[in-house]
Amino acid sequence: MTSKTTPSSGTSLTFYGGAGEIGGNKILLQTPRSQVYLDFGESFDFGEDYFYEWLQPRAANGLECYFEFGIVPMVPKLYSRAQLQFTDLPYEKPDIDAVFLSHHHCDHIGHLSFLDEDIPLYLGHGTKTIIDAYHTLFPSLVNIGDHNAINLFKSGDTIRIKDLTVRPIHVEHSTPGAYGFIIETPSGVLAFTGDFRRHGPMKRLTDEFISEAAASKPRVLLCEGTRMTPDPENYYSEEQVYEKVKGIIAKSEGLVLCEFSMCNIDRFNSFYKAATESGRTFVIDTKYAYLLDQLRTLPNLPSPQTDKNLKVYFRLSKSREFSAKDYSSRDRPYMDNMVTFREIHDRPRDYVMFIGFNKLMELVYIRPQKADYIYSLSESFLEGEDNADQRRVLDNWLTHFGITLHKVHCSGHAGKTDLEYAIQKISPDTLVPIHTQNPREFKKIHDNVMIIKRGDTISL
Ligand SMILES: [Zn+2]
Ligand SMILES: [Zn+2]
Repeated sequence: MTSKTTPSSGTSLTFYGGAGEIGGNKILLQTPRSQVYLDFGESFDFGEDYFYEWLQPRAANGLECYFEFGIVPMVPKLYSRAQLQFTDLPYEKPDIDAVFLSHHHCDHIGHLSFLDEDIPLYLGHGTKTIIDAYHTLFPSLVNIGDHNAINLFKSGDTIRIKDLTVRPIHVEHSTPGAYGFIIETPSGVLAFTGDFRRHGPMKRLTDEFISEAAASKPRVLLCEGTRMTPDPENYYSEEQVYEKVKGIIAKSEGLVLCEFSMCNIDRFNSFYKAATESGRTFVIDTKYAYLLDQLRTLPNLPSPQTDKNLKVYFRLSKSREFSAKDYSSRDRPYMDNMVTFREIHDRPRDYVMFIGFNKLMELVYIRPQKADYIYSLSESFLEGEDNADQRRVLDNWLTHFGITLHKVHCSGHAGKTDLEYAIQKISPDTLVPIHTQNPREFKKIHDNVMIIKRGDTISL
């Protein structure tokens, strides 16, 4: 394996994103006969150097502004005619055989809307379900654009693309439907972890990927390293999250409020279980009810339409009557399982309620006393300077209603111990750290680590 070459007649990888950064995966695999992308994500710092608040490129201008600042790579035969119409890059028919998506997070799919509609997408059934549900619920936030060839896979499928054989294998992450890939190329096997962890209830999925990858004896492993840092590891499992949440509920003298990522179904289960085992009903909003309904093929998920331990919160409508005519056809199926501010105000100790930052207005009606609020998202929001204003507003709401803040969270990414475990088991000839800010740290656990930066091409 050689590094930093230009694409050759052999097999190569080009890193248009995901190198030297957490997220933004956009990795081109080229062989003598095929070209496929592994993920097509948006970097977390995308556009940050040129755009700010209301200073934003117009969607109608397509890629024009992005090419101006070099923040989307100017690659021919990749983007749609509409995206290229005001740019210097002429439209040509695409020559990409496939884009494989590891999971639905924005840093893995965020730039799909730029792609030519005829490039085939390959994604897991769960990924597609969540993308569709999020698009229905938040159309301006989640929109992958139009695609004429969407191919769905499940774990263990074998997909042939010319001289490539791609096998998606599920992994555990902070969302269902996450995959790694084992890819046979003319130059040997390439394994790609996607985003993964093994400290939650679905650990066996990741372990299945690890053993399949190990058995394939890969020449190269592309391994995510979100939590690879020089600092000591802070190990925290999903089981510990559940225990801690249960402890907070047990001590609470009022309503327990909580916030976590909606698609984090392991986290939903931790809160739902902690609430029901404490004799409380778990409350979600109508959007969350819709998402759960779409995910009903997952095992052991309660039905938001009928489950007795789950209630669906309906906001006060304009008529203030809570009658069907005031709600959309998407919300109405949950009316039989409805709860309102009145019941929660009257019996706060009967409930644990999911409430996002944007829904805090409901507290004006619920008027909680002695409530607790469990923040169960990445701590970077509570501690980062970028969010200081939002944090100030949250603090003001909590202070106003005398609510106690608790932080309980565990990551969707493997810590150092599990990264080391995975890499030693898989034992690739060459290790290429991706999705990390500390690739050099991997040299402590493998003796052939290739450090890449954005734009590099390496030959297999
Ligand atoms: Zn990611
Ligand atoms: Zn992810």
